[in-house]
Amino acid sequence: MTATAPTSRGIAARADDLVKTYGSGDTTVHALRGVSIGFEAGQVTAIMGPSGSGKSTLMHCLAGLDTATSGTVHIGDVALDGLGDNEMTRLRRDRIGFVFQAFNLVPTLTAAENITLPLDIAGRDVDRQWYDSVVQRLGLQDRLEHRPSELSGGQQQRVACARALVGRPDIIFGDEPTGNLDSRSSGEVLSILRAAVDEFGQTVVIVTHDPHAASYADRVVFLADGRFSAELAHPTADDVFEVMRTLDLPKNDAEGN
Ligand code: ADP
Repeated sequence: MTATAPTSRGIAARADDLVKTYGSGDTTVHALRGVSIGFEAGQVTAIMGPSGSGKSTLMHCLAGLDTATSGTVHIGDVALDGLGDNEMTRLRRDRIGFVFQAFNLVPTLTAAENITLPLDIAGRDVDRQWYDSVVQRLGLQDRLEHRPSELSGGQQQRVACARALVGRPDIIFGDEPTGNLDSRSSGEVLSILRAAVDEFGQTVVIVTHDPHAASYADRVVFLADGRFSAELAHPTADDVFEVMRTLDLPKNDAEGN
């Protein structure tokens, strides 16, 4: 089954017949068995599915952090499999933002230095007006001189969101971005990712196992056993939970046999 959302602003990222196989012979693991999904620009999309269904593998292939065994990934119009190492590094740096479960901030740098680090490494100028809007919107103006160890988990993840936003990437990928946060901080970070789309016109794709986090998305796509299996538009947490329950059932039960 193929899932390609109808497009208004176009497709920001796309997987076509993506296959990822680990190992060989008896130990072969089929992480992705031919996944075709388009991720629409200007939306929050959540990728869900049971543990081991291929969510992280799909996201890592989409973000150019891993290469597929076969099939293609596009970021905008660019096919990743045609890129050399340097071009891939540049594309990741210039067009993709990341927010990880473990925050991944540099402990010796202040929040302000962490936020501009990718631009500094790339030798790109920081658009100060944009930087100020992002810092203000994320409520970080009083935290900029703090180091990560002096910030709460929620504040650290807000710094990571600011770091992802400040380069104005084409797309921001979040790998369980609220996985290490309590429910209040989770809500803050999800509201920020939502605002990145609604107020800043960004595109966000997150992997999550949390139905509440997924309810912030415009669209939720479900994987099961390395395949696309279902999708929901603007679901409530209950809608998401219901689909997850079906996917987690042994196949015979799910089919009502
Ligand atoms: P999810 O994110 O949905 O939990 P993953 O994408 O992490 O699923 O994993 C999909 C399948 O691929 C799982 O069976 C997992 O054990 C396997 N897998 C993931 N990474 C590797 C790896 N580096 N080597 C071998 N198998 C892997």
